[in-house]
Amino acid sequence: MLRIIESLGDLKGKRVLVRSDFNVPLKEGVITDDGRIRAALPTLTKLIEAGAKVIIMAHLGRPKGEVKPEFSLAPVATRLGELVDVPVSLAKDITGESARELAAALNEGEILLLENVRFDPRETSKVDAEREEMAAELAELADAFVSDGFGVVHRKQASVYDVAKKLPSASGLLVLKEIESLRKATDNPERPYAVVLGGSKVSDKLGVIANLLSKADILLIGGGMAFTFLKAQGYEVGKSLLEEDQVETVKGYIAEAAEKGVDLVLPVDVVVAPEFAKDATPTVVAADAIPADQMGLDIGPESQALYAAKIAGSKTVAWNGPMGVFEFENFANGTKAVAAALSEGECFSVVGGGDSAAAVRLLGFDEATFSHISTGGGASLELLEGKTLPGIAVLEG
Ligand code: ADP
Ligand code: MG
Repeated sequence: MLRIIESLGDLKGKRVLVRSDFNVPLKEGVITDDGRIRAALPTLTKLIEAGAKVIIMAHLGRPKGEVKPEFSLAPVATRLGELVDVPVSLAKDITGESARELAAALNEGEILLLENVRFDPRETSKVDAEREEMAAELAELADAFVSDGFGVVHRKQASVYDVAKKLPSASGLLVLKEIESLRKATDNPERPYAVVLGGSKVSDKLGVIANLLSKADILLIGGGMAFTFLKAQGYEVGKSLLEEDQVETVKGYIAEAAEKGVDLVLPVDVVVAPEFAKDATPTVVAADAIPADQMGLDIGPESQALYAAKIAGSKTVAWNGPMGVFEFENFANGTKAVAAALSEGECFSVVGGGDSAAAVRLLGFDEATFSHISTGGGASLELLEGKTLPGIAVLEG
């Protein structure tokens, strides 16, 4: 059982460290999707209402242990300030003078955001003692720790894992909801249980596929990874994304699916184009007739109808990875069709994966029509893989 915020007792006047996932996409310093910041609000609001002094730890991008201004959390602090109606300040550092002074000066119900925790190389260090040293400095800023950055709970990092051992700790509302929803879809799914897998590479998702072959009833494959499957079936894939070194592994999966009675479904038609470009001319071809000089950038209309029908007939559906290059309008229809089937269906529907969740919002779907849209790409994948996540295990008991 995950420990909940209530287990921390009365938080009035207490300093509470919160790990949030504010790793939002930025374009020229402007946040293009604030979904992750909004997902953090329920926990922050709860703590503010309880009269806590809230100190948030978060990361942005991959500054690789160095202070890099382009990865400052400043835009996040501004956006957060617009979303909550309490003062939000931003420390100049993580556990330095600025952080300590601002933390000491915090009033009840106010928020302090520490600078990007990944500016400190100890955050992601593989050496336990280095992470523990940073965690001890963080713990000194507060009286309790709430873990709510679902996107990072699969990481054994100072602000996620080690700090939880140094303070009374509990899971936040987002982490609780994520775990509940993903376990509902993976541990004991109502059947038929269909999993839709897409995205760019098979190699990213080998663990998931292997685990799902003994759990799912239906496996629908799309996106760039579909071409390694089509190649394994003996088809030519032209200039499509292909991981030659995974073809043998994928052949094994196809055989295993047949053996276990898993309905493994591959695209029957594909939208191809001569190049990877927004305005490339789309053409629909059969999956076994991809021209040598073209690349597959989406699943075709017949496949879309087939996948939608399989989803409509399922009671539980987990979806990870776009069906095509949804960023280009001409190649977004496969992803749209899958999203629509999940959104309109009666099934328990879970969307995992950073790009898939972004696609749902970008394509204009109402998030409320899905049972759960995960905020964590890697973390949701590892749960689908059936792994134990360090940032979750440390909150159990
Ligand atoms: P998620 O973040 O949801 O797990 P991935 O990161 O695995 O998804 O993959 C998302 C990316 O895959 C998107 O940027 C999309 O454009 C790309 N993609 C999907 N289909 C194709 C394809 N046929 N060829 C190349 N890239 C593709
Ligand atoms: Mg991704």
